[in-house]
Amino acid sequence: MRAFNFSAGPATLPTTVMETVQEQLLDWQGTGMGVMELSHRSPEFAHILNETELDLRELLALPDHYRIIFCQEGASAHWDMIPLNLLQGNPYADYIETGYWSYRAIEEGRRYCNVNIAASNRSDHFSALPEMGEWRLNPKAAYVHYCSNETIDGVEFFWTPEVGNVPLVVDMSSHFLSRPMDISKFGMVYAGAQKNIGPAGLSLVLIRDDLLKPAAPGTPFLMDYHSQFHAHSMLNTPPTFTIWVAGLVFKWIKKNGGLQQMALRNAQKAHLLYDFLDQSELYRNSVKAQDRSLMNIPFHLREPSLDEVFLKEADRAGLKQLRGHRVVGGMRASIYNAMPLEGVQALVNFMTDFERRYG
Ligand SMILES: *Cc1c(COP(=O)(O)O)cnc(C)c1O
Repeated sequence: MRAFNFSAGPATLPTTVMETVQEQLLDWQGTGMGVMELSHRSPEFAHILNETELDLRELLALPDHYRIIFCQEGASAHWDMIPLNLLQGNPYADYIETGYWSYRAIEEGRRYCNVNIAASNRSDHFSALPEMGEWRLNPKAAYVHYCSNETIDGVEFFWTPEVGNVPLVVDMSSHFLSRPMDISKFGMVYAGAQKNIGPAGLSLVLIRDDLLKPAAPGTPFLMDYHSQFHAHSMLNTPPTFTIWVAGLVFKWIKKNGGLQQMALRNAQKAHLLYDFLDQSELYRNSVKAQDRSLMNIPFHLREPSLDEVFLKEADRAGLKQLRGHRVVGGMRASIYNAMPLEGVQALVNFMTDFERRYG
């Protein structure tokens, strides 16, 4: 019996993917070996890696001049890797501050360059995106960094910033593959796996080939995108099992109508929950309607003293891991691709009943 798991990450995976993993755990395609036991230099694993990459390209309709790199580091490591690889001697970079994760990238970026916070919604408590007209971009910056879905604050970009010729670098960790995205607008995209791609232990980089240059002197060799790409993401042993499972998730998305279909399902799920929150007297989400994330939906109870009762009863009802992030408190429902509509419906039913009893 599978619970409805609302964790922000590591997050729920499609049940059929988990079943395939279970079936093939001991014997991958008649080899008598499980994937986690295969040499990363074996033809079997080369086949897995190749197919995973081709499926991702197909899903995103990724232009040929974009390279894919599989990294062992989590998304956080890219806050260092981006300046080390993309500054190329330029002392300036622009950052947009829209919530917890973009702020963490800013803090780390400051170790390497003069960070210009070109726009921020901190004064709005990260509840609405800063409008493009207010951005103070530096045309000489090496790149503009932003986070297109703030996993903790629950704000999402439904538009792509216009930044002229400066490469746009985006952390898509928590909504990667949730809907079609035009990657050609970006210099570089990165995403940690454990939100919407697969198990923890992997992050993906999509980078335009002209930006792929040797990293700054002194960069640890594993953090050099250029050499990692030229080694087919195998400068050292990659997270083979995680890459395999990510590949199974890509196949699952393809089989279920691709990103178009994911987009429809995700919008339907999110609207179900937001419509409920908006008519409720007990719960509230304070993000501006047009900037609300379709993936991560934070909400608070009018009476925070009820939080623990809510979480305990939800857990007992098979609705798991709804506790909000420690920096914002309250509750959060993460409803990635793998969360079925029935899961969100079950949550709304539970919340309706809870409000009737405690509201
Ligand atoms: C989870 C998350 C991160 C951090 O990921 P790690 O894999 O723990 O390093 C960074 N950015 C965003 C948007 C995230 O959701």
